[in-house]
Amino acid sequence: MERGMQNKETNDRLPLVIGVDLGGTQIRTAVLHGSTLLSRVGILTGENPMPDHIIPRIYSAIDEALHQAGITIQQIAGIGIAAPGPLDYKTGIIYAPPNLPGWDRVPLRDLFTEHYHIPIFVENDANSAGLGEYMFGAGRGCTDIVYMTISTGIGGGVIINGKILAGASGTAAELGHMTIDWHGERCKCGNIGCLEYIASGTSIARRANEAIRSGEGIELLAFARTMLEHSSTVANQSALPTQGHDANTAELDSSPPEQGDMDTSDQHQQEHLHVNARTVALAAEAGVPLARAIIQTVAEAIGVGLVNIIHCFSPQMIILGGGVTQMGPMLMEPALRVVQERAMKVPRDAVQIVQAQLGENVGLVGAGALIYYHSNM
Ligand SMILES: [Zn+2]
Repeated sequence: MERGMQNKETNDRLPLVIGVDLGGTQIRTAVLHGSTLLSRVGILTGENPMPDHIIPRIYSAIDEALHQAGITIQQIAGIGIAAPGPLDYKTGIIYAPPNLPGWDRVPLRDLFTEHYHIPIFVENDANSAGLGEYMFGAGRGCTDIVYMTISTGIGGGVIINGKILAGASGTAAELGHMTIDWHGERCKCGNIGCLEYIASGTSIARRANEAIRSGEGIELLAFARTMLEHSSTVANQSALPTQGHDANTAELDSSPPEQGDMDTSDQHQQEHLHVNARTVALAAEAGVPLARAIIQTVAEAIGVGLVNIIHCFSPQMIILGGGVTQMGPMLMEPALRVVQERAMKVPRDAVQIVQAQLGENVGLVGAGALIYYHSNM
């Protein structure tokens, strides 16, 4: 089957598919008709994320999703699996994703094929989310789109002339690891000054907590304390509204201090409060100067990233997903100002920069969309 297809205006005539969204903490499965979820069953990876433990549980979740939808596996055209990279979409083998310990060279496609005997496709989660938005979300009607998700990390999917850009190694497009500040700090990928290092939800939280530790964040800390006192639910929420599997880990919690160099009880208490990206966003909205400065820096970095994307790909549309992009004008206005000031006029005039439309189900819809894409439906 050929890799490539049209985008879908409606779900009519599309066969039923199963989507699996494989995340570090949660794995979700669904029976889908186009972008419509007929059922959804999730499991937590829990204490033992090893593949020989998790994969049978995924089968059970799929069987339960089929049961809930009143569908049999014989009615299903295929199973699409969105997984964290690195992976090889051609062979369906997953290579040691950082957030799935113990998963090294797992032949996911072959295992699922042996179990279900129907077409199975595996794709990088950001690419498949981009495919979902392209076929069923904001990108309908386009041929060239770039999808960028900004949450705990920053991921990207590039679709050119209706095809997912995989590159020679199959790892394209790592938009989060484009260099923004070449004199900057080292990212966990090995590069220096990556967009992800500067502008992810994790980075927002890191900047805030560093400032607090250095004594510059008294007002932000007071804001976070007030939030904690007035909302008992805050501590249990993920840091930002999330899309797809990419739950933010930078939570407002009472983790032990990372540095033990403060002695007084007052200072010790300050060490215990870890501020998350969502709190920084709320504090910025409330006018806390440090929080505003952090969001401004992040917004400018995202703007520079958008300029780079526009110059490299000249897409019709850049679709932004993930919790950080939900911050609204506070983030988007400075980012778009950078685009207006710096991007070349011709490709800038040709691009629309929009919010993603599929929300939290983008991972599942994108996974299911892999079947339509590979089957040329
Ligand atoms: Zn990086």
